[in-house]
Amino acid sequence: MKNRSLLMIPGPVEFEPAVLAEMGSPTTSHLAPGFIEAFGQALEGMRQVFLCPEGQPFVIAGTGTLAMDSAGANLVEPGDRALVVNTGYFGDRFGMILERYGAQVTHVRAAIGDCPALEEVEKALSQVEYKLVTVTQVDTSTGVLVDIAALGKLARMYGVLLVVDGVCSLAGEELKMSEWGVDLTLTASQKAVGVPPGLALLMVSQHALESFKARRNPVLNYYADWNNWLPVMQAYEARKASYFATPAVNLVYALNVSLGLILAEGMEARIERHRKISRSCKAAIQALGLEQVPVRPEVAAHTMSAPRFPAGVNGPDFVTRVGRAGVTLARGLHPAIRSEYFRIGHMGSVNLGDILATIGAIEIALKECGYQFTAGAGLAAAAAAINE
Ligand SMILES: *Cc1c(COP(=O)(O)O)cnc(C)c1O
Repeated sequence: MKNRSLLMIPGPVEFEPAVLAEMGSPTTSHLAPGFIEAFGQALEGMRQVFLCPEGQPFVIAGTGTLAMDSAGANLVEPGDRALVVNTGYFGDRFGMILERYGAQVTHVRAAIGDCPALEEVEKALSQVEYKLVTVTQVDTSTGVLVDIAALGKLARMYGVLLVVDGVCSLAGEELKMSEWGVDLTLTASQKAVGVPPGLALLMVSQHALESFKARRNPVLNYYADWNNWLPVMQAYEARKASYFATPAVNLVYALNVSLGLILAEGMEARIERHRKISRSCKAAIQALGLEQVPVRPEVAAHTMSAPRFPAGVNGPDFVTRVGRAGVTLARGLHPAIRSEYFRIGHMGSVNLGDILATIGAIEIALKECGYQFTAGAGLAAAAAAINE
């Protein structure tokens, strides 16, 4: 593909050929036996990928934001208190969604590039009674990774629902939903799950489902209401057709293929591959003398990197030059530092070759921008780090 640009943004990402082929196959009825089987398999596969054998999966046409909206609409009743563990742009968004459904929202924040201390979260939880806590496992605006296992323990201790935005992490970062006590994990198809944009995916624990069933007020969003979707998900899993709103037929077929590839690789091997790729990418960034938005390696994601521009390098110009060298990168997203950094997505089907191509293109662009560094230093560091 000589005119292809390697897509290395934090979603959408590069997709496996088998997944793309499935997207291009003839669309069937949503009642066709083949579709019923594929949808049923996809729902079963989701439980394994989310590491939540007893959870209730939902597959809904939409995006990650719809998945967040669905969590908010179904779990929040007017007046409920919600705590947002906020590490960036998507924490702010979750807060707005929860408020829209009538929640009283408190944010626990940290400096940009850091995550709030556990003691701060605990202090907030001990002061008033919250119904739920939301957290972004990897905030795509900062590349900050949060310790979900620790929050799971706190959530259990204080009897609150733990909702994880796993859009930039699920199937790329370690996330043991049941073991860690997570009540709801949500994601979108186009990130580490490896399917083109268009699906909102949720896994809801039995505990969260009970909380939903005990609502006193109707869900304030018709499309997102789990009362409409639950019978549909249960029917397809029992290999029966059902209808509430037309499923994104080709995307569901493609999801089933991608989940199959993920499970064939194995969750542990997949997480380890993301760790290695991330180590390689971050070693290269460091060798080139660039700082990163996450303030410490322990709070840095493995699904993406967020390097800061060196002095004298102009952001938009740099990203355009990397693009001319064959690799598409993303600019900054966090409003407070937007022009100071760029973002590299390395999740899903990413491999070492993709990282080397990306670092090579970054070196070319840095050179063109007049930045002083030892040519090849990033590539050498990336290659050395892969087998550390
Ligand atoms: C991409 C992303 C979203 C939003 O997903 P859309 O599919 O763009 O609606 C939400 N949260 C995180 C962490 C993301 O990375």
